[in-house]
Amino acid sequence: MDQVKIFTPASVANVSCGFDVLGFCLEPVGDEMVIRKVESSGLKITKIVGESLPLDVKKNVAGLAAEAILKAHPQKAGFEIEIYKNIKAGSGIGSSAASAAGAVFGINELLGKPFTAHELIAFAMEGEALASGSAHADNVAPVLMGGITLVRSINPIDVIQLPTPKELTAVILHPKIELKTMHAREIIKKNVTMEKAIQQWGNLGAFVSALFNEDYGLMSRSLKDEIIEPVRSLLIPEFDSLKKASISAGALGFGISGSGPSVYALTKGMKTAQKVSKAIDEIISPIGIDFEIHLSNINDQGIKILSN
Ligand code: ADP
Repeated sequence: MDQVKIFTPASVANVSCGFDVLGFCLEPVGDEMVIRKVESSGLKITKIVGESLPLDVKKNVAGLAAEAILKAHPQKAGFEIEIYKNIKAGSGIGSSAASAAGAVFGINELLGKPFTAHELIAFAMEGEALASGSAHADNVAPVLMGGITLVRSINPIDVIQLPTPKELTAVILHPKIELKTMHAREIIKKNVTMEKAIQQWGNLGAFVSALFNEDYGLMSRSLKDEIIEPVRSLLIPEFDSLKKASISAGALGFGISGSGPSVYALTKGMKTAQKVSKAIDEIISPIGIDFEIHLSNINDQGIKILSN
């Protein structure tokens, strides 16, 4: 096998009570990549379609992630990467993670799969560090492992795949304004009160338990963020009205996706997701920002091979 074409999905990280630790993978939204093994040594990004991003290996998350895996498994052969972007950079639904995870997944396939999905997380994180200023795993983990993941630790890497309740459905609103991860990180307060910390870990524990038991009522009670959302939501147009309307339309919870500007709602079933999508549309349409709404099941598989 000398070439692999993959679908590398978008993902939602910072899932309310799971800031920096919980993420899930989307089904219909994502990029495509072609990774090719070539005789001449070295690593090249030969093509990027759909976004204006650097071809320079050192300036592209895919390049840095690919370098990381090749450092751990040195090769005589070289590799070429083509990236077909559908996920807008800086959208908050894991554009950089899709590229970083896709690059290491593709190279691992062409090397004969020396690494497990869990082991690939570390390499993809080295790429992610370029986009956000610090290495984080909560987007690349669900993209590489599939479904919903919990990052217990990044040093050493310890990521747990959580169960996906059958009817769990996501609604994503991407208002097309750019909000840099680095800026959204800067505004977060450095200290947390004991009271808020207790609320947050209570909610996170309850949410994980709810996933295991398919307890949608408990999911709804625990999808809360007492720490980050009050600050970051100020950067997102109409956040409070979008949240209120989504909950009224039946959403289990509503929050910021990644570092924004995208927001997400989780629902029980596609029918409710459609109602939430309509409620969101009615609020966002009149304000004149370009936007996209995606409805998605949780993608249990993560990256998919399209052809090889
Ligand atoms: P997102 O959550 O959508 O990934 P980030 O702000 O984390 O948004 O990442 C986007 C940043 O990463 C942009 O500054 C972009 O230029 C940079 N970047 C570098 N390589 C890539 C890539 N292959 N795909 C997407 N973004 C990339």
